[in-house]
Amino acid sequence: MKHQQFGPVTAVANQKGGVGKTTTSINLAASLAALDQRVLLIDLDPQGNSTSGLGIDQANVETGTYDVLMSESGVSDAIVTTDCENLFLLPATMDLAGAEVELVNEPGREQRMKNAFAAYAGEPFDHVFIDCPPALSLLTVNALTASDYIMVTLQTEFYAMEGLTQLMDTIRRIRRGLNPELNMEGILLTMVDRRNNLSCQVEQDVRAYFGSQVYENAIPRNVRLSEAPSFGVPAMYHDLKSKGAQAYLAVAQELMQRRAL
Ligand code: ADP
Ligand code: MG
Repeated sequence: MKHQQFGPVTAVANQKGGVGKTTTSINLAASLAALDQRVLLIDLDPQGNSTSGLGIDQANVETGTYDVLMSESGVSDAIVTTDCENLFLLPATMDLAGAEVELVNEPGREQRMKNAFAAYAGEPFDHVFIDCPPALSLLTVNALTASDYIMVTLQTEFYAMEGLTQLMDTIRRIRRGLNPELNMEGILLTMVDRRNNLSCQVEQDVRAYFGSQVYENAIPRNVRLSEAPSFGVPAMYHDLKSKGAQAYLAVAQELMQRRAL
């Protein structure tokens, strides 16, 4: 593990937008927290959807990921509690949108997040997730440099695999230089619709190509998952019995099994 005192870090990444990164970050983090794991979710997307999705108004947040990246605040000082037991959040404030530009001239610009994690001296987490922005930007590079694992969410649609070569190249480059320990640990299929032939075909293709890297449990297209953020809660607190909430609980259990290996 990269950061013994902090916990195992997983970057939820894909440079495409709308492929389920935020939905996965929120619901997987909440599911693990419900399974008695101490979990931290880090919102690294300037859009702040993980922050608002957990019921926290970006406008009322004073300290967040931006301050941590700019070394204006330690991780411990920026973490807030959420309404879900065991689930903590490092929120995204509006100024995160400017971080990309400001970081360019900072020393060790790719390692700001890694250094912030290394300085953490609080109670360790069982899981830390980073909800990445939809770009292979300096923010995402910071996340990948600071992570033990990368989880890629793939929407099962025609263009699912498009852009994956570029993402894999980035991972390879980061492994060669900034973070040799980065583990490509899983691909999670999202918005699966098994009544749709194309969705089934894409799922088959991805599983044939990536084999055991693909999570056995997939996330179905489910309206409860898209509704929950408007209530500011993970889907399991909106409708525990829903297919979406149950699927993320199953993925949480699968993740714990995979990590125990
Ligand atoms: P990203 O973070 O990759 O941009 P999101 O998680 O925000 O993607 O998902 C994009 C949109 O699709 C959101 O409106 C979200 O509510 C919706 N969505 C994500 N996963 C599902 C799902 N399994 N079923 C239905 N809607 C989903
Ligand atoms: Mg997102």
